[in-house]
Amino acid sequence: MNRPILASIHTEAFQHNLNRVRELAPESKIWAVIKARAYGHSFESAFKGLSSADGFALLDIEDARWLRQQGWRGRILLLEGLFHENELLLAQELNCDLVVHCETQLQWLEGFEGKAHKPFNVFLKMNSGMNRLGFKPKAYRTAFHRLHSAGYHLHHMTHFANADQADQQPTVGSQMEVFSETIEGLEAPTSLANSATILWHRNALGDWVRPGIMLYGASPTGSQEDIAHAHLKAAMQLHSEIIDIQELQKGDRIGYGGRFEAPETMRVGIVACGYADGYPRQAQDGTPVWLADGDANGSGLICPIVGNVSMDMLSIDLRNAPNAKIGSVVELWGDQVPVDTVAQMSGTIGYELLCALAPRVPVKIK
Ligand SMILES: *Cc1c(COP(=O)(O)O)cnc(C)c1O
Repeated sequence: MNRPILASIHTEAFQHNLNRVRELAPESKIWAVIKARAYGHSFESAFKGLSSADGFALLDIEDARWLRQQGWRGRILLLEGLFHENELLLAQELNCDLVVHCETQLQWLEGFEGKAHKPFNVFLKMNSGMNRLGFKPKAYRTAFHRLHSAGYHLHHMTHFANADQADQQPTVGSQMEVFSETIEGLEAPTSLANSATILWHRNALGDWVRPGIMLYGASPTGSQEDIAHAHLKAAMQLHSEIIDIQELQKGDRIGYGGRFEAPETMRVGIVACGYADGYPRQAQDGTPVWLADGDANGSGLICPIVGNVSMDMLSIDLRNAPNAKIGSVVELWGDQVPVDTVAQMSGTIGYELLCALAPRVPVKIK
């Protein structure tokens, strides 16, 4: 690949963030959530950087197979369980733990002939108010008893809708109440907490926590300030280079749509990164890009985006960067520019940007 764009993934940051989870949830075991190619970071990097977790949680049984092929002997949780009955044997062979969130999945497990030979660990999912997946409280207890009778090893699981927002209904508190009432008298380990719960609701952790976004160093709220206290490190650094420089006169406009008009004579740097790389086209003028060697002393500084992001390129304001030249390195997000900031300037959250990193961007694991 000759294009200068590169996503570097720092396994040391993964380890650091995982240690932070251990400190925040010292009594809990940790599922490292690595769905969506480890939030865009690649399964390879997650496997390398997060292998001291107690287990990996993901969606696709083929990715579980890949983990086993790499030699992973720890636990694997299929977060949405099986999608088809015919995956039962493979899931057993791969020694996966299964979420069971609906009656159909429950019937597959009841009818599974291999269950006597090696019963699954089941994470039975309760809909305690989010109304996405899971059994409503009334149906939950019956489901628990049926799976228990079928010989499976059960865990109680639920998911919070608003652990990152104080007052939005349903609150963590109201969902916790439903959860606790429903499982009363049914002895089994619990799994409740995503990143936001680990960060802000330490009374609702359970026996197995399920951090995702915080392992990657980004914020559940979409605001980096909100997680400053947690001292996480960005696992992904997205870099590229300036590939051309334009000299604009006052009144000249940049790129498609001519959104930005030069207020004076100025230089603009053209960076090899566009929306086909996963950079958001919605990024507003002023979205920060960090230029490694641009100021008069040759140190780094922020250069704001000017004009619409196009498919393969974006443009940055070089008025404060007299040293910028073709080949100057820029960081699109990472240590200098939190992905959360780019997301905020683009009307989305860091999750979406990380997951949307395009397959055409080469990934280097460090
Ligand atoms: C994605 C996911 C998580 C992780 O959520 P974060 O907000 O990224 O920490 C936890 N649990 C379930 C069920 C999930 O689907």
